[in-house]
Amino acid sequence: MANKYKIALIKGDGIGPEIVDEAVKVLDAVASVEDIEFDYSDYLMGGCAVDVFDNPLPQDTINGALASDAILFGAIGGPQYDTLPKEKRPETGLLKMRKELNVFANIRPAVIFDELTAASTLKEEVVKGVNLVVVRELTGGIYFGEPREKLADKAYNTMVYTKEEIKRIAKVAFEQAMKRDKKVTSVDKANVLEVSQLWREVVEEVAKDYPEVSLEHMYVDNAAMQLIRAPKQFDVILTGNIFGDILSDAASMVVGSIGLLPSASVGGKVGLYEPIHGSAPDIAGQGIANPIATIMSASMMLRDLGELNAANRIDNAIKAVLKEGYRTKDLSSFDAKEVVSTSEMGSLVAEYATK
Ligand code: NAD
Repeated sequence: MANKYKIALIKGDGIGPEIVDEAVKVLDAVASVEDIEFDYSDYLMGGCAVDVFDNPLPQDTINGALASDAILFGAIGGPQYDTLPKEKRPETGLLKMRKELNVFANIRPAVIFDELTAASTLKEEVVKGVNLVVVRELTGGIYFGEPREKLADKAYNTMVYTKEEIKRIAKVAFEQAMKRDKKVTSVDKANVLEVSQLWREVVEEVAKDYPEVSLEHMYVDNAAMQLIRAPKQFDVILTGNIFGDILSDAASMVVGSIGLLPSASVGGKVGLYEPIHGSAPDIAGQGIANPIATIMSASMMLRDLGELNAANRIDNAIKAVLKEGYRTKDLSSFDAKEVVSTSEMGSLVAEYATK
């Protein structure tokens, strides 16, 4: 009997519908060879939801997302919504959705494809073979800590983590490491911050449940330097909200193009899978967006659903297609044999994924 999954599709704005459609094409292709069935439902979030419901996150979307096994999301936003009041802005819808789903762990892999090492701003020998993942705590730390206030002559924020918050994000990182090279680098500032001292203690505690995983601690300033100096040393980087915000962006640039980076936000009942880029209104509707980040997000989704063969098929297909020299426009100057459209790229990955 086929494994069945209910997938909520939130295509969003700009290039969102184009890239999600290609990911669905690839999901359907692997489903046909792996005995999986997907039951898709479309929901509106972001600008498109404002257009229809005057609300960037309708209750129907929240209900549909919570009733699904996973959510595949494109991107939201566009210049036409930039002047709306805060509660109607597309970004407000996305932040609210993350909160509704209680996705406290943001997972961002940064993997370089051999064929695209030239797309990185770093030297080829530094980046070739990079395959790391940043596990960032997403719903706590200094971005949410109280008290916080901006006064006329001073302002302050509070960095706070409870043991429970550290424990649950650490577990996510160790679970990731178990599926990878079994190494966790926990990044903090324990030489200065008490909150980081507690972070270290709790991470050490969690590590005891994962004896196969090696754990190292690194100060965030050193981690920033090491990411640029020798990124290949990392497997899983575990860190808090603000450090993760900064380090995951740095890590993403190590591998070059924004159109190649997927992400997963997990920890609640249902995971949210999305490319790290935005809705790219400047290229929307032209058929030139790179769908690979979204297709890779779909692969992460399958991995979390336990469909490893299907996920491997997608990952291998992307590698094969890039190796053959097919490129969307954003990567056309890097060893392109043929420049293809968004839809052609999706079809190619779908075809290779069934081989
Ligand atoms: P962006 O990521 O949308 O675009 C930045 C640049 O990268 C643009 O030149 C764009 O054409 C290019 N680009 C992005 N994705 C691409 C792809 N798949 N293929 C080829 N090129 C790609 O960032 P931005 O321009 O700062 O923001 C545009 C809108 O997206 C804004 O409204 C912003 O708020 C929103 N945004 C949404 C999310 C999200 O939905 N998670 C994230 C970031 C930004």
